[in-house]
Amino acid sequence: MPVELIKEIQEEVTNLLSDLIRIDTTNPPGNETKAAEYLAETLEKDGFKCELLESTPGRGSVITRLKGTGEKPSLLLLSHLDVVAANPKEWTVDPFAGLVKDGFVWGRGAIDMKSMTAMEVMVMKLLKRNKIQPKGTITLAATADEEKGGEAGAGWLVRSHPDKVQADYVINEGGGLAIPINGKNIFTVQTAEKGILWFRVKAKGTPGHGSVPGAADNAILRMNKVVEKLGNHRSKISLVSTVEEFLSGIAKENKTAQQALSLLLQNPELADQILDEFAKGDKAIAEEIRAMLRMTIAPTIIRGGIKENIIPSECEAVFDCRILPGQNPTDALKEIEGLLKDIDPERIDFEIIQANKPSESATNSPLYKQIVNVLREHEPQCSVVPILLTGGTDSRFFRKMGSICYGFQPMLSDIPYGEILKMVHGIDERISIENLVFGTSILYNLVERFMT
Ligand SMILES: [Zn+2]
Repeated sequence: MPVELIKEIQEEVTNLLSDLIRIDTTNPPGNETKAAEYLAETLEKDGFKCELLESTPGRGSVITRLKGTGEKPSLLLLSHLDVVAANPKEWTVDPFAGLVKDGFVWGRGAIDMKSMTAMEVMVMKLLKRNKIQPKGTITLAATADEEKGGEAGAGWLVRSHPDKVQADYVINEGGGLAIPINGKNIFTVQTAEKGILWFRVKAKGTPGHGSVPGAADNAILRMNKVVEKLGNHRSKISLVSTVEEFLSGIAKENKTAQQALSLLLQNPELADQILDEFAKGDKAIAEEIRAMLRMTIAPTIIRGGIKENIIPSECEAVFDCRILPGQNPTDALKEIEGLLKDIDPERIDFEIIQANKPSESATNSPLYKQIVNVLREHEPQCSVVPILLTGGTDSRFFRKMGSICYGFQPMLSDIPYGEILKMVHGIDERISIENLVFGTSILYNLVERFMT
């Protein structure tokens, strides 16, 4: 029995997304309450009771649920309401007009991730309208602040109202986009994400006159060594299970990449050589894979000096370090300090800005199996692979609480895969109406089957 597309919701889900885009929730400042109120209003039309919770005025999240009989585990449909800024001058359309044009809904959040919010709301409405009695409780939460780290949204909810959002399983963003290879689709499910270690390094020196460099101790030169060392550092390769499954899944389908990927899987220590070669063909994918294989460190901010003719006594830089599942921020910091041991440690200070542990959910769960089943029923030739996200999502808060979280926003690459990825936080973000129907249909079937 193939999973059918639910075409009759096309207009409704399109309007939901278009309305959400028109409510500007650029973070900062966020102002998500307006979007949360809009969702509460539309959900109440279908008989849902909604709760609007604000971490601070204006920073609202909305929660509603369909109560289950308790015979099955609970499920949370999660999304975030805020978006990153969009510069109208760079766009070909107004990013906050919610324009529907040429079969697409255009605007900031069309992919990341108001489309998923619209799909999840549509799924809840359909469950209600079809009088589905779930065996486990299904909660919907559309939250504030993901784009700035989630502390005023999902993080706050988990801390302050854990009973309202706790669930055995969570479906969120971070995966679901199909990679088309040789006419077949490989669907991704985000099962892991890297941890974050943001830190600041302060290099100290002795000031002096710019005309006599030798008499001073220039903090910029010291920082130069730090940036050089950390920015070019290639940490040890480590093949975590999600990445291993991902790469073997791709290798199975993609004959061109098969040889290189199989070699890499057998000899992870040769990964850099293999990927250097691979990068000559497809740099974006090669670098994405490289970042999945190790801890990375990137200098992102540097500041030093106050005047043309003063040799500065201070220079500071900020680094964005991402660690793999299985690694922890403390060990990462030790490795980093070790790298700098020859650069006059007394004149270098470290300060941690933010540290989040990596998070991971196993693929051997009933929900993962059901994702595979539903996708295969819809498209028998497709395959499903887990992915490790090099960035972060709100899933980490829920994994910490013990939930099994999957990033699964089902979408077809009806514009080239790479183009879709570029639109996220980029320009002319848009999603096809067909994809809205596709995503809603897959999610509805998944939830209905899993929860009854
Ligand atoms: Zn997002």
